[in-house]
Amino acid sequence: MSNQLQQDHFKVKPQNQVVTKVSPEGGDLEGAKYLAGRGAQFNTKNRFLKNEKTREHVEAIDDWEETNLPTQYLEQDSKTIVNKVESKDVGMSYSMNPYAGCEHGCIYCYARNVHEYWGYSAGLDFEQKILIKKNAPQLLRKFLMHPKWDATPIMLSGNTDCYQPAEQKYRLTRGLLEVCNEFNQPVGILTKNSWILKDKDVLRKWRKKKLYQQWFP
Ligand code: SF4
Repeated sequence: MSNQLQQDHFKVKPQNQVVTKVSPEGGDLEGAKYLAGRGAQFNTKNRFLKNEKTREHVEAIDDWEETNLPTQYLEQDSKTIVNKVESKDVGMSYSMNPYAGCEHGCIYCYARNVHEYWGYSAGLDFEQKILIKKNAPQLLRKFLMHPKWDATPIMLSGNTDCYQPAEQKYRLTRGLLEVCNEFNQPVGILTKNSWILKDKDVLRKWRKKKLYQQWFP
């Protein structure tokens, strides 16, 4: 196990909950507290990075405090928004994800590992550092205008939840739905966030056209 992993696991700032934490080796960590509102409790090592910054723990010197940082939104201009899904294990051919990382922070999430591709950790970073593809609706419009596009259904949230809290600020999912509606593009939506109800108006239009399905995991 790397130093960073050990350090992060053992040096968690006490929050408002008193819960016994279990070490990677299975022993109880007396006095350690959970970071409230987070699924992961530390940053795991990114297997793609050759060099990582770590903080050395010197025995008998005062411990540093690991704070539960507020979620950061990292805006970016993306090059693409629609991805072809090659896996036969999932029932979708194309997906689009306006956000990378997910503040819902489910510990079992299969998308955590994808965060390592962007240089972050699959642990706390996944739920604290959310990448915002702020030009997503424009990219989708360009994609759907391609003369060879055959309107195969696209899954919104094939990777991360498109109605996670960032949507309340950026409304990129809303923007994508409006573009799909305009082009009569069939869409599937996978979410566990009730914020989807804010888009009832556009979804109703679609229901009439029989162009969308939704799933609540
Ligand atoms: S809501 Fe979905 S995408 Fe978000 S962390 Fe949970 S499982 Fe992952």
